[in-house]
Amino acid sequence: MKKIIADRAGKIDASGIRKVFALAASLNDPVNFSIGQPDFDVPEALKEEAIKAIRAGQNKYSQTVGDATLKNSIAERIKNEFGWDNPAVMVVNGVSGGLLLAFMALINPGDEVIIPDPYFVIYKHVINMLGGKCVFVDSYPDFELPVEKISDAITDRTKMIILNSPCNPTGMVYSQQQVEAMAKIAAEKDILVMTDEIYETFCYDGECPSIAHYYQKSLIMRGFSKSHAMTGWRLGYVAAHESMAEVIEQMTKIQQYTFVCAPTPFQKAAVAALDYDMGELVDAYRKKRDLIFEGLKDKFELIKPGGAFYAFVKVPGSAGATQFVEKAIASNVLIIPGNVFSEKDTHFRISYATSDEKIRQGIEILRSLA
Ligand code: PMP
Repeated sequence: MKKIIADRAGKIDASGIRKVFALAASLNDPVNFSIGQPDFDVPEALKEEAIKAIRAGQNKYSQTVGDATLKNSIAERIKNEFGWDNPAVMVVNGVSGGLLLAFMALINPGDEVIIPDPYFVIYKHVINMLGGKCVFVDSYPDFELPVEKISDAITDRTKMIILNSPCNPTGMVYSQQQVEAMAKIAAEKDILVMTDEIYETFCYDGECPSIAHYYQKSLIMRGFSKSHAMTGWRLGYVAAHESMAEVIEQMTKIQQYTFVCAPTPFQKAAVAALDYDMGELVDAYRKKRDLIFEGLKDKFELIKPGGAFYAFVKVPGSAGATQFVEKAIASNVLIIPGNVFSEKDTHFRISYATSDEKIRQGIEILRSLA
């Protein structure tokens, strides 16, 4: 088999998460803190919109760049939020699809991409696959945006800086002061910033400021997977200032020959999703955040997550995270070791996107292991 597989596939390592799933297969009704998706379902009204679109025969390809109504609604929203007159917008197959297109359109072999560590897994593996070089900048132990260290890491080969706030896996929300400082440095060195804002709605303590307010050379990635629990609908969008239209055009060209378009009936439903108020569910998730933080903070070292639905917790004592995770799984709690999201293996990720009852059970078990 080895001989028929391309070298680039060998550059991807899926072992970290696969190991947790393999260990989990034998468990009976575990506390599942491993899954990165909301535990609520798509609101009924939005399901109806998708069903209506399917029944109305809207089942063909859409424009590659996206259904015109959806694209215009997104552009309107971006215009209002950032004050950009004619933003460049495209609809993609989830933020994952957008990331792949952006990396394919922008990264040459040998180009460097600066990524705060810990980071969302896709960045590293896709960049490696394309021959790019990830330059990880340590953000432990407080997971604030390490602006100075990022500045020091910039070289002639730096193509892009990736920000992800609210962050997977830390739940960190970067402050306005930090993103402004980052914008200033990126502008001085004329470097593109990709800002992955897929968790923008899960923002618990005030604003989650986007760097795009302070820097026009930002590529904004947003989606519906987390905000509306549509992970299976594969819908996201990429938006940028008019001056970055060429990037969106190149990405659209690549989409034409890969994904072709995002799923048409779901794009129709997404128009309604943009205006659908998810506030109540976000309030419920803020309570889950409080539950997990209050339940663990005296036994474990962790920052209070300001957004997303993750907590990134330091393993107590001197054990590595992988070892601690094995112990937790043996006690029926599924968590993910830090080295899946990091060059270090000192922490574990909890996704608290589960019922309050399961969160309470999980807290109790984790406390007994501390
Ligand atoms: N970015 C981040 C930070 C994520 O956590 C995820 C999903 N886990 C994605 C992007 C991709 O999400 P999707 O492709 O479903 O939009």
